[in-house]
Amino acid sequence: MNPINPTNPTNLTDPTNDSFSTKLVVLDMAGTTVADGGLVERAFSAAAERLGVEPGSADHAAKLDYVRATMGESKISVFRHLFGDEAKARQANAAFEEAYGGLVDAGHIAPVPGARATIEQLRSDGRRVVLTTGFARVTQDAILDALGWQGLVELTLCPADAGGRGRPYPDMVLAALLRTGAADGVREIAVAGDTSYDMLSGVRSGAGVVAGVLTGAHDREQLLAHGATHVIGSVAELPGLLAGPPAREGR
Ligand SMILES: [Mg+2]
Repeated sequence: MNPINPTNPTNLTDPTNDSFSTKLVVLDMAGTTVADGGLVERAFSAAAERLGVEPGSADHAAKLDYVRATMGESKISVFRHLFGDEAKARQANAAFEEAYGGLVDAGHIAPVPGARATIEQLRSDGRRVVLTTGFARVTQDAILDALGWQGLVELTLCPADAGGRGRPYPDMVLAALLRTGAADGVREIAVAGDTSYDMLSGVRSGAGVVAGVLTGAHDREQLLAHGATHVIGSVAELPGLLAGPPAREGR
């Protein structure tokens, strides 16, 4: 595997030339650029209680384990799995969004240290940046409003903006490319996130860089096991990583 190099014109004609430069950066929000301090779990507990799942019960613990393992997935998908029928899933999702939004409005979120400056650095390096989430749009907007981040990047995407599947499918990453036209191909995309599902979505999209960060839900081993090409301490290390040439980590 070649290091990440500046654009080489031969890229366009030589299919064996694997060097590329990153032109589009797709960043996850909660756990990657936004520190939410476990709000997902608190909001989940509120939603579960609304549906009669008692805190402290074995059922609650099992469902919470599932929520942790699937962190990053479209939340409505998680609730469909947990509660079976569509009406209950929607009820749970509405309760979750309401609880999470209330916690956001109460000031319980903050940027991951350096995240805003990192995004600005990536953009001043000539890269385009898109923010993605597994939350619904109303929650995504509540987070962006709370942080004063509306307008920080040119495009933000939630699962419904990309056909509804969310992660671990590559759809939001591919939608970011299609909507922005920011790169000539998928190898020029870098995906960064804190969960296994972020890594899978990056791998499945064909992104040249799939970077796991250690500020969120999953650890180095989990990130590597799901296809991370690199693991970094936080998103603040991403501009340096993309300036390369970094050694690729083993799959
Ligand atoms: Mg995340």
